[in-house]
Amino acid sequence: MHIKHRSVLLSKYICSLNYKMAHQIPPDGTLLPLMEEFYTIQGEGYHSGKAAYFIRLGGCDVGCHWCDVKESWDAELHPLTHADTIIENASLHPGKAVVITGGEPLIYNLDYLTRGLQARGIKTFIETSGAYPLSGNWDWICLSPKKFKGPKREVSLAAGELKVIVFNKSDFAWAEEHALLVSENCKLYLQPEWSKATVITPLIIDYVKQNPQWEISLQTHKYLNIP
Ligand code: SF4
Repeated sequence: MHIKHRSVLLSKYICSLNYKMAHQIPPDGTLLPLMEEFYTIQGEGYHSGKAAYFIRLGGCDVGCHWCDVKESWDAELHPLTHADTIIENASLHPGKAVVITGGEPLIYNLDYLTRGLQARGIKTFIETSGAYPLSGNWDWICLSPKKFKGPKREVSLAAGELKVIVFNKSDFAWAEEHALLVSENCKLYLQPEWSKATVITPLIIDYVKQNPQWEISLQTHKYLNIP
């Protein structure tokens, strides 16, 4: 084989090796596929309106057809980042709360990351479908169950907030099924799926008036045009 061809093949092999190695995520949670991190205002649910550092981890196999972060699904597109770096970045901001989201963040062991954040006095909030076993130390768990891959019982029981995305009328009955699985003190929210908000929001308003154990959650960050 020509030496030039050999070196091209070798460099392709090294590239593919790096690519694969870059995505061997260690089970201790010290390295995580970070899609993005930014300081903003939590727009929805119980902590709506509060300043928080968002940590979005790549990787999700739940497959919601209306998902607005499909670019998060493939973990291999997002660089493995040391949890210490994420903790350091989060601690630079005056708002001492993080929202760990995805993707589906519970795919990964979040013990190391959340312990480090709490050690810096940062509150840890998670947004999860609950489809994977619970890891991490949490100040608040927002469970947003999805039909395509249901939540683990342990996540339903630990949730401080059940936030059901309403896409069509049948989702009200489905929300009630999940309300039976959470703890008595869990806050209950119905949130219109963004692309259907015009049609669904009036239905949610009527439903909450008739069923006041539920509250409305709106994606206020989208109305305010902030990330
Ligand atoms: S669980 Fe979340 S990230 Fe995953 S597909 Fe559904 S909406 Fe998208």
